[in-house]
Amino acid sequence: MTTNGTAGQDYLSVTDIHKDFGGLEVLKGITFGARQHEVVSLIGASGSGKSTLLRCINLLEIPDRGEIAVDGKKLPLSPSGRSHRHITNQRDVRLFRASLAMVFQNFNLWAHMTIRQNVMEGPVQVLKVPKAEAAEQAEALLARVGLSDKLDAYPAHLSGGQQQRAAIARALAMQPKILLFDEPTSALDPELVGEVLAVMRDLATEGRTMVVVTHEMGFAREVSENVIFLHQGRIGEQGPPEQIFQSPKTDACRKFLASVL
Ligand code: ADP
Ligand code: MG
Repeated sequence: MTTNGTAGQDYLSVTDIHKDFGGLEVLKGITFGARQHEVVSLIGASGSGKSTLLRCINLLEIPDRGEIAVDGKKLPLSPSGRSHRHITNQRDVRLFRASLAMVFQNFNLWAHMTIRQNVMEGPVQVLKVPKAEAAEQAEALLARVGLSDKLDAYPAHLSGGQQQRAAIARALAMQPKILLFDEPTSALDPELVGEVLAVMRDLATEGRTMVVVTHEMGFAREVSENVIFLHQGRIGEQGPPEQIFQSPKTDACRKFLASVL
């Protein structure tokens, strides 16, 4: 299903995802799609399952039930069977994960590597790109996010905004089909939020397919084709940003928006 209900055109297709943690049902059947070049924003209160959903999409968590497909390829999971679900092939999983690069709230850069090495690591280790080529690509990507003068710096010597821009360059280096962002600006000092959103806005403008968990409602409104409001592990409502932000249909969404806007 696509966001408008037509079958067969989704680039990312998430169907009936369930996840529980020791009896706590965190995702209770999530279905949505994103077409190529679309930006989908996930909003919702803390604890509503946004991070768990993103982590299920890229297999950092294994969904108990449901299917995920990217560009027509299903995620390499054994058939549903709640307690015995497992990853069928580690190499398939690495490649699948590489097609869905994730940017985390806390950057998650490798502290013992320079920024350039951080960006090269995935391409060299997972995609088997020759080192010289990976280094060149890393420099080009770091230039794009405005970090040409920080190639040999270690993460600890960068501001949060610079670290997050490096993390975005690292995600891009994997040539992902889809970029996943989990509250990429929430850990930043307010004055550093803009530089990261600017990079993300550029990515949206150039047609990247993105799923973004964010509390930046202005950003969500500006760049998203579709906004999904998660509420207690379900999709509370979804629609184009004008609809969600101007005339939400549910009390839960109205209340949530009142609390963040
Ligand atoms: P959000 O990102 O919307 O704030 P999360 O997906 O992080 O929400 O969490 C949803 C719920 O799942 C919370 O109640 C959280 O405590 C719980 N949860 C998330 N990850 C785990 C885990 N690994 N083990 C147990 N509970 C978890
Ligand atoms: Mg979260």
